[in-house]
Amino acid sequence: MLPVIALVGRPNVGKSTLFNRLTKTRDALVADMPGVTRDRKYGEGKAGDKAYIVVDTGGITGDEHGLDYEMARQSLQAIEEADAVFFIVDGRAGIHPADELIANYLRKAEKKVFLVVNKTDGLDPDVAISDFFAVGFGHPLAIAAAHNRGVTSLVEHTLADCEDLDEEARHKDSGVRIAIVGRPNVGKSTLVNRLLGEDRVVVFDESGTTRDSVYIPYERDGQKYTLIDTAGVRRRKNVTQAVEKFSIIKTLQAIKDANVVVVVVDARQGITDQDLHMMTFVLDTGRAVVIALNKWDGMSEDQKKEVKEQIQRRLEFLDFARFHFISALHGSGVGEMYASVDEAYECAMAKWPTPRLTRLLEDITADHQPPLVAGRRIKLRYAHQGGSNPPIIVIHGNQTNQLPISYKRYLQNKFIKVLKIRGTPMRFEFKTND
Ligand code: GDP
Ligand code: GDP
Repeated sequence: MLPVIALVGRPNVGKSTLFNRLTKTRDALVADMPGVTRDRKYGEGKAGDKAYIVVDTGGITGDEHGLDYEMARQSLQAIEEADAVFFIVDGRAGIHPADELIANYLRKAEKKVFLVVNKTDGLDPDVAISDFFAVGFGHPLAIAAAHNRGVTSLVEHTLADCEDLDEEARHKDSGVRIAIVGRPNVGKSTLVNRLLGEDRVVVFDESGTTRDSVYIPYERDGQKYTLIDTAGVRRRKNVTQAVEKFSIIKTLQAIKDANVVVVVVDARQGITDQDLHMMTFVLDTGRAVVIALNKWDGMSEDQKKEVKEQIQRRLEFLDFARFHFISALHGSGVGEMYASVDEAYECAMAKWPTPRLTRLLEDITADHQPPLVAGRRIKLRYAHQGGSNPPIIVIHGNQTNQLPISYKRYLQNKFIKVLKIRGTPMRFEFKTND
């Protein structure tokens, strides 16, 4: 499981600045989800090859009177779901009464808290932190987020403390890991029950839950699967428990932990921005994808046409994925999804020997040569596989950084077509050897 780090602190201490430092890859997955304040941001960070999730809670004002209940509740949920909290204070301002309020709040949360003193640029770090021992979270850590100072060691220090489970060991024998994700009420639980309710399914004992998702291993037609159920079907049977809160962290974790992600959409509501956010994140992680347009029962022909048009218009970036129009409630179309899940998994995990990829590269370039650059022809020499789930193809040659986009697209499309890749995104990397 990816460690989750929550950024907490009063306004203006530098949370957003630190957030942007930590998640330098892409824009934050700005959460526009129900039950979540708009200013809460989620992103993925990397330290070496260790990935983690960062949440900018943004919500604690620390102002006793103005302390918006809902915002505080949201932040508390983020803190609860985090493995570690960066409690950020302003090294130039000294201890602010709001900091003390937040400190009390964090002490109750019983989390691993790192007191981070920001804006220490131009200050003597030892002097800057000396005030803050009094806050009571041990040795404060000095950084200057705006100047990227101290940030790397802060993260390394934190991650060294977080449990690092061996992925191979955790995933041993789990078969095809399928995450079922989607907005609240799109029909995830209903679908999970349907998928498990299929003939010939043997459900094994639940082998431990991680975070809040429920992991359900089972077998179907001799193939092993593990459903990662973000809706928490099993626990819902326990009537004393309220309907689960929708959690973005849970969804992100499930996506990262899956081989294939089934994104469930309520077809009656069309493709919403929230659906798009989630799909974009799935694409970024490189996981294989199957899209389920649920509640297809009882829709008018006009409605169906409208949804199909929306798919053309808004989901072009998922043209590699299979779309299923299903009714989880009645079961229609659900069994057929397994073929797409299996196909996506096989493509995502496929292994191709270097000679095969290199021969393919030779054929493709012979059909249509790379262009000349400054009178010199770009040569692509060999290709090898750099990873799977998503499959990565690494192409070596000279001047590959000069390859026009159009030629790269041509190459990629050919590879995808000849290797018969469906259901998973592919990544291509170009390396220059001269
Ligand atoms: P947030 O409200 O906690 O998210 O704070 P911001 O990230 O928006 O930062 C508030 C202000 O502090 C901005 O003007 C930042 O440029 C500034 N700031 C953030 N980090 C540093 C730092 O390391 N040094 C200095 N001098 N200013 C900083
Ligand atoms: P979740 O929050 O995503 O797990 O959604 P649920 O599985 O709890 O379903 C939410 C509501 O949608 C429930 O009332 C379901 O009965 C209903 N529902 C789920 N799938 C379908 C479907 O295929 N057709 C129709 N008409 N209703 C459905």
